[in-house]
Amino acid sequence: MRDYTPKLIIIIPCYNEEAVLPVTAPLFLSKLQQLIRENKITDSSRVLFVDDGSKDGTWDLIRGFAAQDPHFAGIRQSRNRGHQNAVLAGLMESKDNCDITISIDCDGQDDINAMDEMVDAWAAGSEIVYGVRNNRDTDSFFKRFTATRFYRLMNRMGVESVYNHADYRLVSARALQAFADFKEVNIYLRGMFPLVGFPSTCVYYRREERLAGKSHYPLKKMLGLAVDGITSLSIRPIRLITGLGLIVSLISLIGLLWILIRHFTGQTVAGWASLTAIVCFATGIQMLSLGIIGEYVGKIYLESKHRPRYIISERTEERSTEEAPAEKTADGKDE
Ligand code: UDP
Ligand code: MG
Repeated sequence: MRDYTPKLIIIIPCYNEEAVLPVTAPLFLSKLQQLIRENKITDSSRVLFVDDGSKDGTWDLIRGFAAQDPHFAGIRQSRNRGHQNAVLAGLMESKDNCDITISIDCDGQDDINAMDEMVDAWAAGSEIVYGVRNNRDTDSFFKRFTATRFYRLMNRMGVESVYNHADYRLVSARALQAFADFKEVNIYLRGMFPLVGFPSTCVYYRREERLAGKSHYPLKKMLGLAVDGITSLSIRPIRLITGLGLIVSLISLIGLLWILIRHFTGQTVAGWASLTAIVCFATGIQMLSLGIIGEYVGKIYLESKHRPRYIISERTEERSTEEAPAEKTADGKDE
C-alpha cells in the first residue's frame, strides 16, 4: 500500500468536440473535486485537455474552462495528429509533473466513476490500471462485430492487448518514465503499455453512448488502427508470408512433378484453365505479400526520420522551465 496522496492529471484528447465538451467538462471537474474531497488525490490535481488541432471552437472552450477554474488546463497540438498522438502529448506533458495520469475520451462514453477504483488500485500497488468495458450493448451491431474481430485479429497477429480495453487507463509517473524510452513514432498505446510491464490490473466499467457529437472512428480509421497496431508491434504477418511462400513452393514442386510425368507420357497441351488459375493465384499472393512487406518498409522509413510525435503550439498555462521534460522535441535525441 502507498501512504501518500498522489497528484492526478486526467488527460482528455479532444478533436472537434465543441458539442460535447460543455456537457462533459463539468462532469470531469466534479469527479476531480470529489476525489480531492475524499483525500484520494491532492488539490494540485488537474484536468488536462489536449486539443488535437480542432477546427471548431474546441480550443476557445478549453481556454474558457481554464480561465474559470484553476483545476482545468489545456494544451493544443499544432495540427490534427490523431487520437494516439494527442494522448501521447498529454502523457509526455504530464510525466514529470504528477504522480498518476488517467487518460479518457472526452465524450462521456467511459464511466468516470471507475476512476475511484483505478486510484485505489494504484494505491494498492499497481502502476498501470486498464479500464475494461464489460458491455457492448450500446454499440450498433456493426461496431460490436468489427470491434470483436479487431481484438481477435490483433491477438492472432501477435499483439498483446487487453481485451475490450481502449485508451481509458491509469498510468503512474514511474511507468511513464519507462514508457518515455519507447521512441517509436508509429504508436499504438494500448499495445505498448503491456510491454512496459510493472504490476498492472483491470477495472471494469459499463461503456455508454456518446453524450453528444459523433464518433471519429469509422470503419476506415478502425482498419487503419488495426494495421498500424499490428505492423508497429509484431512481425507475425511477415512470418505468415514466409509460411505461405513455403506452402505455395511445396505445392508448385508437386505440380512440377505432375507436369514432368505428363510431359514424358506425351499428354501435354490443353490445360489453359489450370495455368491461368495458377498465374492469377501466384500473382495475387505476391502482390499481397509485397504490400505487407511494404507496410513494414514504410514504417522503417517513418521511424528513420525521427520526426516529432507531437508539437504543442499553445498552452493555457505556461510551464516553469525546470519542469520541462528532456524529451521535449521527441525526436529520439534527448536535449
Ligand atoms: N480524437 C482525437 N483526435 C482525432 C480523433 C479523435 O483526439 O483525430 C479524440 C476524440 O475527441 C475523443 C477520442 O479521441 O475524445 C475518441 O474518439 P471518438 O469518440 O470519436 O471514437 P470512438 O469512441 O467512437 O471510438
Ligand atoms: Mg467515443
